[in-house]
Amino acid sequence: MTRPYSTEPIRYRAYNNKNIDALPQFRNLGPEQRRAIQAVSHVLPFRVNNYVADNLIDWDDIPCDPMFQLTFPQEGMLSADDFERIRDLLDRDAPQDRVKEVVDDIRRRLNPHPAGQMELNVPSIDGVRQTGMQHKYRETMLFFPSQGQTCHAYCTYCFRWAQFVGMDDLKFANSEAASLERYVRSHPEVRDVLFTGGDPMIMRTGVLESYIRPLLEIDSLHTIRIGTKALAWWPYRFVTDTDADALLRLFDDVVDSGKHLAVMSHYSHPRELAPEIARTAVRRIQTTGATIRSQAPLIRQVNDRPDTWAAMWQKQVDLGIIPYYMFVERDTGPRQYFDVPLHRAYDVFTRAVRQVSGLGRTVRGPSMSCTPGKVVVDGIVDIDGERVFALKFLQGRDPDWVNRLFFAKYDEDASWIDDLEPAFADRFFFEDDGRPFQPARWRHFAVYAGAKSRGKGTPEISRQNRS
Ligand code: SF4
Repeated sequence: MTRPYSTEPIRYRAYNNKNIDALPQFRNLGPEQRRAIQAVSHVLPFRVNNYVADNLIDWDDIPCDPMFQLTFPQEGMLSADDFERIRDLLDRDAPQDRVKEVVDDIRRRLNPHPAGQMELNVPSIDGVRQTGMQHKYRETMLFFPSQGQTCHAYCTYCFRWAQFVGMDDLKFANSEAASLERYVRSHPEVRDVLFTGGDPMIMRTGVLESYIRPLLEIDSLHTIRIGTKALAWWPYRFVTDTDADALLRLFDDVVDSGKHLAVMSHYSHPRELAPEIARTAVRRIQTTGATIRSQAPLIRQVNDRPDTWAAMWQKQVDLGIIPYYMFVERDTGPRQYFDVPLHRAYDVFTRAVRQVSGLGRTVRGPSMSCTPGKVVVDGIVDIDGERVFALKFLQGRDPDWVNRLFFAKYDEDASWIDDLEPAFADRFFFEDDGRPFQPARWRHFAVYAGAKSRGKGTPEISRQNRS
């Protein structure tokens, strides 16, 4: 494996299931492995680029290499039946519409939009649902710019995989900078806007700027966050791409306007921080006054060892990056291939966090981004002779839930909140008993201008957020 200890520009080249034969390293894989990759990539998104292939994947350690697992689809990501169905169709050179029918059927069974993100949390302006926005937590709204709904490479575990597979009804995005500005202006409770995707850093600087600049005039907005994996998948975006300098000037302007600019960087493995170009990208961003925070899910086959996380957090602290979240893999896509039981996730987190100093312990986890909010596994304890998970809301659809502890029966096999049963009670306190799931307090803040002007008593945002 060669590593680019130079920061000389290289040309971006993407590979997917149509042109992957052109990647030299792919041609060296065995025929069964190539067929499996072809079959699974008909269902799940697949994209790798020359930087990742040449510098992050250890081709002498295939198929176990974590970066290979992170980017190349594997047979086990589909059920045995589904895998055989697809491979059989491809082997028989079946008509495209028949392949598509089967592929669509499989995709719909993979829970393409977890945590109700297609139905819940979608705000409206003048009664029109804004499909590229989500307003789940009072202070933070998410914006999905339509030009940012791809990535420089795709993670095989991607929880937003449905964004990339060309099923229009499974996609949400918004190209209206004016709608974004209007919504944020009319919702002073929104302090943070998170640009997300896909990867907003796939956009040209001018496009990103057209969304960001109008927000700089809004006093009630404090923070602009950009969720990205470009620091790992294509760090040249911040160093040598033709508009890299313009991007940093935009970052300068955001910081000069008095807003906090947070680059929410998705790092899955310490190897992503090794190349000099990746470190140079970090340093360049930091010169603008922006902060970089790191987050990633805990994934079997990729980063399910404490030492991996400890090494990654230590490198991040060395570089001035703030470790932020370890997530639990979401209940979507090829989850059965990647998921780690909650008790193990807690153990990995605990043993990793013990290895870093206090500066690395800014990280929180293992956290589930689920329908009611962000729920962290805070402990496994015995109470009155019963073993339980201690869970805590880090974020809640109702702000009153934040920092609230609750308990679930210990279950060796549980890997998501839906697998858990309440301990010491009939139901979790947030479960719908006609009251708690309605974000009652939030309603006071969510003054929806359109609803108000039409004389409606209940702001639209509140109704959208009921489960
Ligand atoms: S960078 Fe994020 S959105 Fe893009 S493929 Fe990876 S997990 Fe999905």
